[in-house]
Amino acid sequence: MEDVRLLQKETDETAMKKAIFIISLCVLALMVVTVGVTAFRGLDFGNAITLTLNGAQNMSIEVGETYQEAGASAVLSDTEVPVTVSGSVDSAHIGDYLIKYTAQANGYLRTEYRYVRVVDSEAPVITLTTDPNAYTLIGETYVEEGFKATDNYDGDLTQEVVRKEKDGIMTYTVTDSYGNVTSVTRKINYVDPNAPILTLEGGQLSFIMVGDNYEEPGCTATDFRDGDLSANVIVSGDVDGNIPGIYTLQYSITNSIGVAATKERTIYVIPKQEEASSPDAPSTENPENPDDPNMPPIINLPTPGTTIEPNGKTIYLTFDDGPGPHTDRLLDILKKYGVKASFFIKGANAHPQCLTRAAEEGHTVAIHTYSHNYSEIYASDESFLADLEATQNVILQHTGQKAMLTRFPGGSSNTVSSAYNKGIMTRLTKKLEELGYQYFDWNVDSNDAGGAKDADEVFKNVTEGVAKRTNSVVLQHDTREFSVDAVERIIAWGLCNGYTFAALDFNSPTCHHGIWN
Ligand code: ZN
Repeated sequence: MEDVRLLQKETDETAMKKAIFIISLCVLALMVVTVGVTAFRGLDFGNAITLTLNGAQNMSIEVGETYQEAGASAVLSDTEVPVTVSGSVDSAHIGDYLIKYTAQANGYLRTEYRYVRVVDSEAPVITLTTDPNAYTLIGETYVEEGFKATDNYDGDLTQEVVRKEKDGIMTYTVTDSYGNVTSVTRKINYVDPNAPILTLEGGQLSFIMVGDNYEEPGCTATDFRDGDLSANVIVSGDVDGNIPGIYTLQYSITNSIGVAATKERTIYVIPKQEEASSPDAPSTENPENPDDPNMPPIINLPTPGTTIEPNGKTIYLTFDDGPGPHTDRLLDILKKYGVKASFFIKGANAHPQCLTRAAEEGHTVAIHTYSHNYSEIYASDESFLADLEATQNVILQHTGQKAMLTRFPGGSSNTVSSAYNKGIMTRLTKKLEELGYQYFDWNVDSNDAGGAKDADEVFKNVTEGVAKRTNSVVLQHDTREFSVDAVERIIAWGLCNGYTFAALDFNSPTCHHGIWN
């Protein structure tokens, strides 16, 4: 027995030694290969040939974009030597590619490599199907209304979506093969089985242009005891389609055990932008300090029945980081109300045709960034300007015009840049001015890239911020679906309260935040 155990122990030790030996061999082999490759990279008999790559040695391109071979040049004692290029980039597939450049003359050989990474920076898009009348009784399981996930690279990802319910909120998350993550949420409509349920046909918000008749879409009421109570719904309030303003209608019902339910519908009777506004008035406000504490916030004015007068205040809607899959819908909304906005674009994005449309429809197309990669952009003045120029080229290509308005990634007051380059914001703000550019920050943040998670919060943040200012430069992101969802309501609210919407131009209030790096 003792012997057997000893033997067993020895066998285990031998196996362990064997394993360590094999691992050591593998590590050694890897080292040999690494050293070999490193040596080969610099292989150069006498280092006599100078081989220079045109463009960057390490580069990344967006999947689907065409890889442009920039080539290389080689010189041996002042004489040009032909360069052979081998290897290719399959830009339809994400991955890392190596292009090899070889120059050979008079017995000398020189080799260089370019490393090309095909990236996918576009996150998947999750679309939720929502039945406005769906509800789940408290205590019952939510029945999914439907969802779809698509990705520019992976195609249909619906099967990969992970759902998680917490506190009545369902979160849908999906990751594409490059690792981009998208999450969207829905609030489940849980209802009390003892209370009647009111359902507003046509939704809680209604937008009509002045002069159009308001047609009541109706409100139904059902109850688990009493059945259909729709005929007993009491509607209070009035809407006059000829007088612009924000109207509310109240709907109420009480069931046979005395439990009541109420709902409210907001109807925006919207004046035309042309009628509501005088042309973009010059700013008298100090743009560096746009807050006026004496200005009362005006949230729900005017009282229905009063005429809307232009209030002398201007809203500059600005959208960063697009174009994206929601930009076309945003342009439809802006068009419907004759409202002009400004787009600070990310040059590397898909959907560049939206830029053409935006420019054609009178919006301002301006520079934000090409890559939006802070470590790259703020590495040096040169790399910032290269990123700016790349964005400028995209704009020029798709709109036929040069953009002279810019917005720094992170704003001019960002301090993240100091991690990469001390003092760069101080230099860049001066440099842009020298080059004839005007940069814009913002004074109203929708917070759609921060705490705001749905259209209601975006609407609240924007309208509360705008109400306090004479000139509001509003920051939103048209890459966020819920932020685009809020735009129609923001416009309707603004027009009904006498605001003027305008696109930024060279003389608009710049709202500079101040420089911290
Ligand atoms: Zn941005």
